[in-house]
Amino acid sequence: MMDFPEYAAARDALLACVVPVGTERIPLDECLGRILAEDLIAAENIPPFDRSAFDGYAFRAADIAGADHSVPVTLRVTEEIPAGATPTQPVTAGTCAKVLTGAPIPSGADTVINYEVTDFTDDAVTFFAPVRRGSNIVRAGEDVKAGTVLARLGNCIDPGTVGTLAAQGVTHPLVCRVPRVAVLSTGSELVDADKAPGPGMIRNSNAHTLSAALRRIGAEPVYLGIAADTVEGIAELMARGLADCDAVVSTGGVSVGDYDLTPAAMDLIGAEILVRGVRLKPGMACAYGMRDDKLICALSGNPASCLVNFYTVALPALRAMCGVRTPIPEEITLTLAGAFPKSSDVTRILRGTLDLRDGEARLLLPREQGNVVLSSVIGCDALAFIPAGSGPLEAGTRLKGFLI
Ligand code: AMP
Ligand code: MG
Repeated sequence: MMDFPEYAAARDALLACVVPVGTERIPLDECLGRILAEDLIAAENIPPFDRSAFDGYAFRAADIAGADHSVPVTLRVTEEIPAGATPTQPVTAGTCAKVLTGAPIPSGADTVINYEVTDFTDDAVTFFAPVRRGSNIVRAGEDVKAGTVLARLGNCIDPGTVGTLAAQGVTHPLVCRVPRVAVLSTGSELVDADKAPGPGMIRNSNAHTLSAALRRIGAEPVYLGIAADTVEGIAELMARGLADCDAVVSTGGVSVGDYDLTPAAMDLIGAEILVRGVRLKPGMACAYGMRDDKLICALSGNPASCLVNFYTVALPALRAMCGVRTPIPEEITLTLAGAFPKSSDVTRILRGTLDLRDGEARLLLPREQGNVVLSSVIGCDALAFIPAGSGPLEAGTRLKGFLI
C-alpha cells in the first residue's frame, strides 16, 4: 500500500486522460441539468426596447419641472399604449401618452410616472410635483446587453439559463452528449436483484448503487450484468462495455486475493493500468485504466468502498466526460457533530449527513463507517477527509470535505 498514490493524485491522473464525449443540439425543454457546449452570448438586448415599468403616463420631465400643489401642471393625453402595441405619434411639449406596464416608450417622452400620484381623466393628467427625468423607464438592454456572455461552455443548465436561452430565441442549445457508462459486476456469489439468492449467494446491489450515482452526475448507466470470477468472463463483459459505451465501471475483484481477477482481465483486453489502489480508507482497493481512449474504473466489491472511491477518485473524470468545466467538487469545511474514535493512518473518508442549522455545516456521522456498510450511505450528502496520521477526533473538529 505504501506505493499507492494519494486519492488526489489518482483522481488527477484520470482527469488528465479524458475529454468530453461530444455535443448535440436538443430541445430547450429537455436541457435542464445538461452541460452547455458553447458560450451563451446574448445576440439581442433584453428588453429589446425602452419600456414602461408601470401603468401610468409617459411625458417630458421638463414640462412639469415647476409643478407643485399650489401650481399643478396639466398635460393632454394623446393616445393609450398597452403592452404589445407601438406608439403612433411622438410626445411633444404639453402632451403625454397613457402607457401600461411593458409598453414601449413613445419618442419624445423621457419619463414615466405611475397613475396613482396624478389626477387624471381620459383626456388629461394633472401633476402636483416634478419627476426626475428618466424615472420608471426600463431601458433597452437593462437586463441583458447584446454581446454579453450569459453562461459559459461547461456550465450546468439551470432554470435561469433555460429562461435566458428562451429570451434569446435559442430553442435548441448545443449541449454536451451524455456519456454512456457500462456497469458490470464481478463475483461468482452474485445474483441479479430480482432473483432469490441461493446458499452462499448475495444480490448484486453495487450495480444499482453505481447506476444511480452515474445518473446523478449526468451520465447514462448501461447495465451489462454479472461476470463470474474468471479472467475470461470479466474480460468479455469489459470488452463489450468498451465496444458499446464511453467508459466502463466494474465492481469486485480488485483486492489482492486469489479470486481478484479484474486487473488480469484488464490486461487481457489490452488496457493500460493507470492506478492500482489508492491511500484511502475506505476505498483503497481499485484499478483504473484506459483502452482506446476509454476509461475503465474497477472498484471494490465492498459496497461502501466502491461508492467512496467512486466519489473521490472516479467522479471528476466522469464529470469531465460530461463536459463539466470544473469537475472536481468544491472543497468545503465541515464540523464534526460527534466524536470519531479511530485513528487514521492513511487519509480516511467519513460519510455523513449535513446539518445546516445555526449557519454551520455540521456533519452527522452514521453509526457505522465500515467498508461493508452500505446502509450508512443512505441519505449521505457529504464526505469529509481525515488527514493521514490523525488520532481520534472530538466533536467540533473541522474537516475539509465536499458535497455529493
Ligand atoms: P470483492 O471486492 O470482489 O473482494 O468483494 C468484496 C465483498 O463485497 C464481498 O463480500 C462480496 O461478496 C461483496 N460484493 C462484491 N460485489 C458485490 C455486489 N455487486 N453487490 C454487493 N456486494 C458485493
Ligand atoms: Mg469478488
